Amino acid sequence: MGATFPLGWFAGTMAVTYGEGNPKMSTKHPDGEPWQWPEPTWRRIVGRARAGRSMKPKAWPNGARCAVAISFDSDHETIPLRDGDESPMRISQGQYGARQAIPRIRRLLERESVPASFYYPAVSALLHPEEVRALADDGHEIGIHSWIHEANTSLPREAERDLTFRARDTLAKIAGREPVGMRTASWDFSLNTLDIIREMKLLYDSSLMADDDPYELLDQDEPTGIIELPPEWIRDDAVYYNFVRFSALRPYTPPSAVEEIFTAEFDGAWDESGLFLLTMHPHITGHRSRLPVLERLIKHMKAKGGCWFATHAKVAEWCRDNA
Ligand SMILES: [Zn+2]
Repeated sequence: MGATFPLGWFAGTMAVTYGEGNPKMSTKHPDGEPWQWPEPTWRRIVGRARAGRSMKPKAWPNGARCAVAISFDSDHETIPLRDGDESPMRISQGQYGARQAIPRIRRLLERESVPASFYYPAVSALLHPEEVRALADDGHEIGIHSWIHEANTSLPREAERDLTFRARDTLAKIAGREPVGMRTASWDFSLNTLDIIREMKLLYDSSLMADDDPYELLDQDEPTGIIELPPEWIRDDAVYYNFVRFSALRPYTPPSAVEEIFTAEFDGAWDESGLFLLTMHPHITGHRSRLPVLERLIKHMKAKGGCWFATHAKVAEWCRDNA
């Protein structure tokens, strides 16, 4: 997940990549205007990384009512780095994630005995290797989250493949175990991402949003065996709290309203015996006014009862074996 998007970035990634060339070279679709497309064109487009069979299990472990998968995208300094932004102020906002937020989050998760998944851009892990090792030693999951928070849809296929493999190998070396899952940076799943994670034989991805509950990814109707654990912008802290000084992007949502939204999403998952998957960012959510939202949410879940708190990897394994 990204924290700040300068204006040019979004426009740049809107230019869809066709073939191997520079994605900014052309915005014209080779099959012409969408209203002229033959049926195979729009079927091929929607058939890419499409939701297949539901992987919602018949039951959760130990008869639990629902599954709770909490995640933190530990972007830290990589958001300004990704943008080529050398501003010490914006770098310091990222460093806050490592310096203040992660220790606070670790203490909360330990106090509540809740495991979580932490997704690291490789550069963030290389900047903070002891933090990654400490989280892995605590029993939390370390997952892939790009090299330097690059936008996959802006990359040629070979660059994306190379960065993704290097990111996996870097995390494996630092954390001491191989990652089994990936969350694309900014959930920016490209036209080539599915091929790359199939080659990598990942257990799961957590970037796509076709369901509330886990599902299997299809590649043009072919089952891939890869489980999608769907996130959603609704269950993400960044959309509510982001701030850019010289733009209209300001936090417009107080923590109490974010708590109300997250709680309602959890209550819905509990009612439907489904998965509640939450994405947060240490440098955004780890502040004194905001982390208590997560603490109160965990207390609400525990009071309601029947929650299976697990890493994304454990949820994916269970779904693979019990759906
Ligand atoms: Zn991110």
